[in-house]
Amino acid sequence: MNAWLLRLESWFRQQRDITACLIASALPLPLYFIFLLMPFLAMADDEYKGIYNWEVVPFTQTIVLLSSFVLSGVAVFSWSRRTSNEDYPWLCLVTVTVMFFAVTALGLGYGYKDSPLMLLSLGMVLLVRALFKPDVYKPISVVMGLLFVCSEIGFWTNTVPYAPMLQSPIFVGEALDAWWAFWLRMIYSMIAFPMLVIFFVLGYFMQREKKELEQMVVTDSLTGISNRSHFMAMLDMESSRHERKQQPLCVLMCDVDNFKRVNDTWGHPAGDEVLRAVGRILKQSTRSAGDVVARFGGEEFVVLLPNTRLAQAEAIAEKIRRYMSHHIFGEGENSFQVTISIGAVQVNDGDGESAVKAADDNLYRAKKAGRDRVVASLVHRHGSLECV
Ligand code: GH3
Ligand code: MG
Ligand code: MG
Repeated sequence: MNAWLLRLESWFRQQRDITACLIASALPLPLYFIFLLMPFLAMADDEYKGIYNWEVVPFTQTIVLLSSFVLSGVAVFSWSRRTSNEDYPWLCLVTVTVMFFAVTALGLGYGYKDSPLMLLSLGMVLLVRALFKPDVYKPISVVMGLLFVCSEIGFWTNTVPYAPMLQSPIFVGEALDAWWAFWLRMIYSMIAFPMLVIFFVLGYFMQREKKELEQMVVTDSLTGISNRSHFMAMLDMESSRHERKQQPLCVLMCDVDNFKRVNDTWGHPAGDEVLRAVGRILKQSTRSAGDVVARFGGEEFVVLLPNTRLAQAEAIAEKIRRYMSHHIFGEGENSFQVTISIGAVQVNDGDGESAVKAADDNLYRAKKAGRDRVVASLVHRHGSLECV
């Protein structure tokens, strides 16, 4: 079931014109045939002949017949080109226009309120909205919406009759007429089942897409770790928790040494590989729950260590520095090594922002002292440093 849904999803995300036209044209065809058939069956039965207003029926039947004809043609054409990736804007426009046109004709003819046409129209709007681009359905939606409003005004002012196709009411007293009870049950179940499936499948796709988007918003695309904005949000949260619970909070600011030289000597792709390796090493050296590892920008990385004392943070920083200096990039003659400098701070009673600033100051000290080293200190509210 899941594999089937995944296949359907990847197919759905391709948003190919031809598959959209195939579904939209083929799915409602059986319903149109039912609506075409109903008046003929009524005509053949003396008991039910009086249901229809035979002056209006040919008009609606012609529209539905022509629409079914065009949609069958679209379905056959789309099926014959089902593997095509081409854009078919004219085919989309024809499909959507004809679909909406037929449903509006039926809706106005049978009346929306006590027939299944309201449900059918909603189902079609949902289907068209999911399958096509707004350019395709916007113009016809406006026209159909206007028609609907005009007919409503017509009913209220008694200038247009409600359900002009019908002569006798659908209800006899309180009870639904037997003829209508049969057809309504049939049409409702034919609409309700595909609609339930569409709702379920679209809901599933939307949830997965939402999760992916949420993940993308907080992730750095090159390294797969958190990005700067997610780090700043987590820093805000953790620093207020740190104030509330009086728990120690540490920040590590890391910067690859002479990274420009890596790019210049080994090329940009090799530089990117170094950045990905730094991300992996930072992840491996920290706790998966609670700690936040992020790319701050360029070749600068930052680590948030909640509930951690400076000595522990310094040990973690030292582990990262060691891992980095032992890592060998490339192969044979093209192999090289890279070092990293780290500024570490523990926030005593200050806020997260000042901790980042102080960690950056320590990083600068590490660089000045010759790189490939860790400089650690406590930081107080006003940014004054106490080196250890
Ligand atoms: P220092 O030891 O003082 O930090 O020197 P550095 O060369 O590492 O620092 P500098 O700021 O001079 O250079 C950083 C370089 O990082 C410059 C920039 O081209 C490179 N860089 C920034 N973002 C990326 C990236 O996404 N991929 C790659 N390959 N390089 C990047
Ligand atoms: Mg650098
Ligand atoms: Mg830098």
